[in-house]
Amino acid sequence: MEKVAIFGGTFDPIHNGHLHIAYEALYGLNLDKIIFMPSGNPPHKIRRMVTDSYIRYELVKMAIRDEKRFEISGYEINRKGLSYTYETLNYFSKKYNKVEWYFLTGVDCLMDLDTWKNIGLILNLCNFVVFNRPGYNKQEILMQKEKVEKRYGKKIIFLDIPLLDISSTEVRRLIQKGQDIRYFLPEGVYNTIKQLKLYSRNI
Ligand code: ATP
Ligand code: MG
Repeated sequence: MEKVAIFGGTFDPIHNGHLHIAYEALYGLNLDKIIFMPSGNPPHKIRRMVTDSYIRYELVKMAIRDEKRFEISGYEINRKGLSYTYETLNYFSKKYNKVEWYFLTGVDCLMDLDTWKNIGLILNLCNFVVFNRPGYNKQEILMQKEKVEKRYGKKIIFLDIPLLDISSTEVRRLIQKGQDIRYFLPEGVYNTIKQLKLYSRNI
């Protein structure tokens, strides 16, 4: 059976930390394909101004163009209203039911999983994969993993990968400060952000 992962995120902007976990997933889980899924109007981030979805989408497309096993989907940004992971997984798993589905997240998502809608359904629809991220100790991660697994009767895959301390928040903050951050970003993304003067005002 084909193994395909969905990698959801705001990607505001996409950075090398995202590509790092995508490659770790590709090789570590032997995936055939990863579908990057920029969120439209993310329920977790209603308070912050998010960059126009079209721009975020184009930046992701640019970042993944050299890897043929990476794809992008406009499914969430084309939907009206809030995007929910359970709806996306439901749609894709029904449409392509001969696929073994994975969903990729950083450990911050595991920590606030209680706030996600229909988490039980999500865990039933896919193999939920969690990647290590700076700022969390192993013990608290494993405790939370066990808690969620017990509550929903489903296993979670935890991949303890080398940490890359990059976040979109930090990228936006440093750009605003005027710092050069080309090493955090794929080249095309860096150039486009510069050209369009993105993130130079609001964080
Ligand atoms: P922000 O700071 O705006 O929240 P972010 O860097 O967390 O941005 P998101 O678009 O929110 O990026 O993240 C998409 C997914 O990628 C999430 O599951 C997040 O945990 C994961 N992720 C992002 N950066 C890293 C990283 N450096 N290491 C591991 N996982 C990461
Ligand atoms: Mg985030």
